[in-house]
Amino acid sequence: MSLTLGYFSKFPAAYKDREKFIGEVRFNNIHQDIIKDKIIIHASTDKYQQEMEIQDEIIHLNSPVKVFCTCESFKYEFANAVFRAGSLLKSVNFVRSIISRPKEKNQYNVPSGCKHIVALARQVIKIKPKRG
Ligand SMILES: [Zn+2]
Repeated sequence: MSLTLGYFSKFPAAYKDREKFIGEVRFNNIHQDIIKDKIIIHASTDKYQQEMEIQDEIIHLNSPVKVFCTCESFKYEFANAVFRAGSLLKSVNFVRSIISRPKEKNQYNVPSGCKHIVALARQVIKIKPKRG
């Protein structure tokens, strides 16, 4: 069970104030790979890398996704809640290292993407699938 692409395309109510930062996100590169029944998206901004695994043959708002971003906001604020929601795209060891961190910044424990993941989800929804 995972959260959907549509879920990550918006901030949950608790993080609505992050919306104003979406306009700052500029992707240098967005690359799409189709592997069996999954679509893997690799993206990057100047400082960070994003990865999104869409567990579907065609990109829909309802497609289950797993996400990861290398930014501090994602790792410290959101990864824990995203992991608990079944949508963290990372190794178990990496996940454990996050969860054992005393730094607990997500006061709501609501899963959400960082601004990069939310911006990427919106871009990905617009990407036309290559096959079909
Ligand atoms: Zn990020």
